[in-house]
Amino acid sequence: SAPMPDPDCLFCKIVAGDIPAEIVHATEHSVAFRDVNPQAPTHVLVVPRDHYVNAAEVAHWAPAMAADLITTARDVAEKEGLEGGYRLVFNTGADAGQTVFHAHLHVLGGRHLQWPPG
Ligand code: 5GP
Ligand code: ZN
Repeated sequence: SAPMPDPDCLFCKIVAGDIPAEIVHATEHSVAFRDVNPQAPTHVLVVPRDHYVNAAEVAHWAPAMAADLITTARDVAEKEGLEGGYRLVFNTGADAGQTVFHAHLHVLGGRHLQWPPG
């Protein structure tokens, strides 16, 4: 559905500054911070400031935001020095292992990544 602030949402709290996180980049519409359980030397999450539960909802309600997240991820990759490449992942729904239901784009890099993932 359209963006609705969720007072119980972990990433809304990080965006609001109510829960600490290591912010690496921020724009008018998105915030990028380090994953607390990194799966690669660089593992950053790019999230919209507005609460959408997953990437499909972002694409439906705010396609320009979907573009903003990918652009912000590119800027994070540049800042992090990921010249060797990087991977962007939106886990969407239970089968994909989504655990936090505020849309977030994983930026992974700094090591060789296997394909396909598990
Ligand atoms: P998902 O599986 O939903 O795509 O990924 C959620 C990610 O959020 C996981 O990689 C997890 O490590 C990360 N995460 C969960 N709680 C926190 C937190 O409190 N702070 C930060 N920085 N990352 C978190
Ligand atoms: Zn949220």
